[in-house]
Amino acid sequence: KYHNELVELKGNIRVLCRVRPVIREDGEGPSARQVVTFDQEDDGIVNCLHKGRWQTFELDRVFTQQSTQEEVFEEVRSLVVSCLDGYNICIFAYGQTGSGKTYTMEGPPSSRGINQRALGELFQIVEEGNKDWSYSITVNVIEIYNEMVRDLLGSDPTEKLDIKLHNEGGLHVPGLTYTQVDCLDDVNDVFQVAINNRATACTNMNEHSSRSHALLIVTVEGTNITTGAKIIGKLNLVDLAGSERVHKSQAAGDRLKEAQNINKSLSALGDVIHSLRSKQPHVPYRNSKLTYLLQESLGGDSKTLMVVQVAPVEKNVAETLASLNFAQRVR
Ligand code: ADP
Ligand code: MG
Repeated sequence: KYHNELVELKGNIRVLCRVRPVIREDGEGPSARQVVTFDQEDDGIVNCLHKGRWQTFELDRVFTQQSTQEEVFEEVRSLVVSCLDGYNICIFAYGQTGSGKTYTMEGPPSSRGINQRALGELFQIVEEGNKDWSYSITVNVIEIYNEMVRDLLGSDPTEKLDIKLHNEGGLHVPGLTYTQVDCLDDVNDVFQVAINNRATACTNMNEHSSRSHALLIVTVEGTNITTGAKIIGKLNLVDLAGSERVHKSQAAGDRLKEAQNINKSLSALGDVIHSLRSKQPHVPYRNSKLTYLLQESLGGDSKTLMVVQVAPVEKNVAETLASLNFAQRVR
């Protein structure tokens, strides 16, 4: 068993916050003033100053500006590894554009994020071997844009895929490309294909990535060497679309529709996690493509980790409070 009981103790839904450092783009002057503080004694507390009043939020763990990629991964390691025991895991990065979601999930080449580290960890364990089980690892790279599902490893990234329900109740996406990966070099090749595909399917990459959900789905299939029994776990790593509110007055046409679709899917995700957390009998998976696609990895004995990213400065305070309120609601 790779599964760590620590994960169990903390419950199936954990909500973390990561505050990114001040960056050059934050500018100078009053709007670049820092409005987020931490608690020396309690690493689950984050405070935010708005209109002269401090608001305190309590989460499972708060990462400060000094926290490293290693520390963040250390927190999620046991969760990641439990997919070898057949658990389904979701790790989401939530937050406004520019708050550090992609940094946390992908990270720059010099300081890789959760995605690479998670795969590296799985390869290492699989290579070290296990006398009872042999494993194979495959990945999908998917984008959900405007409530359309696209396969970033497929031959036509503009093609819209359907999510179908099997007769036995499971979900599948016909035509979706599964690529086997055996080492981090394979993973880098896969990412390169996805990046190229994503670039051909859109005109402005930066804008596009802030308006779409990027999913890396890792499927780990273990086969028992003596009995042939199979065990399948899934690790879903999701860099969500930017959570910033777009006002009707500032957007029209396609842009407004995109914004409404993002709002819809992020609030659908919040609703699903909230109803799981509060043990409500009905879980509204069907309200968005994102929650529908991840249905089998949300709820049941699946484990969910939400990393709520925030910027530390005054000019982002309204979005920071909105994100921390989201965090509090799903916790
Ligand atoms: P998002 O994906 O939420 O839009 P990014 O991950 O692109 O945000 O981060 C915005 C900027 O902040 C990038 O330049 C990124 O390198 C920087 N950044 C974010 N988090 C950190 C961090 N923890 N340490 C250093 N730089 C960071
Ligand atoms: Mg991003």
